[in-house]
Amino acid sequence: MADSQTAEFKSVRLLGRIFLTGDIELKSGLHIGGAAATLSIGGVDNQVIRDPLTGRPYIPGSSLRGKLRSLSEKFAGRPQNFSIGQGVQIHVCKTLADYRTCEVCQVFGIPGELEASSPTRLLVRDVMLREDSAADLLALRTDLPYTEIKWEAAIDRVTAAATPRQMERVPAGAVFGPFELVYSLYEPGDAARFAHVVRALELLQDDYLGGQGSRGSGQIRFINLELKTKTPADYGVDPRATTPAAAADPTSTLPATATDVTAGESATAADATAGKLGTLADLRSQLDARLARLTAGG
Ligand SMILES: [Zn+2]
Repeated sequence: MADSQTAEFKSVRLLGRIFLTGDIELKSGLHIGGAAATLSIGGVDNQVIRDPLTGRPYIPGSSLRGKLRSLSEKFAGRPQNFSIGQGVQIHVCKTLADYRTCEVCQVFGIPGELEASSPTRLLVRDVMLREDSAADLLALRTDLPYTEIKWEAAIDRVTAAATPRQMERVPAGAVFGPFELVYSLYEPGDAARFAHVVRALELLQDDYLGGQGSRGSGQIRFINLELKTKTPADYGVDPRATTPAAAADPTSTLPATATDVTAGESATAADATAGKLGTLADLRSQLDARLARLTAGG
């Protein structure tokens, strides 16, 4: 079965969820492209994507997630073998045997025929401009509402003539948030695999988000990080009370409620503010202890 192309149906049971929230601070201007035809503001060539309701720029969860996946694929050296259109290739494991040893597909999921046997663990929500940041940008009277226009010279490769080109960006210093990553635990090893998500965030912080990264755009920093967990009991059900198989499996035990996790934390004088972490470095330094607490509790 291990090398079969056939999807292997198996039951999927939610063991818990990890929620990572925080803000995204722009260290340089951010350009995430929008559809020019539908968002025509001021006749700018390269527009940023905006929330149609508020007109404010935002970071689509799909952009953030796609970048995290791409960086994870390159870090793991996985072949980019699957076209998702517009010339974009991603990595997708084709067999269950490969999938079992692939941190990228286990965390980010796979489209297509194997999907039924492999739930996507990581969900990334859209990130809006923070209210205080939106007010600051309006007060600054930027070139366009909330954004600046950067002019750059595009060099024609044939004639070597420089043609001025516009690029709309959200200015450095703006803060988007809160972002939310929701990571679902389906197998006993999933809590430990959350470390791959944290590494992807670290890789992104050293890379860039959006377009024009090689020209300095899109440098970001994660701040005000907070980590929370939920177990099935938080959704009103304790599956261990109803499924004997789960109760008999010692590796699948989680704390009965999320408060079991936070109670342990608040008992520690050094960590009075349960869940609060701050920077990615803070998260990294506490990650092993927190994940161990999550899997060992109950
Ligand atoms: Zn894979």
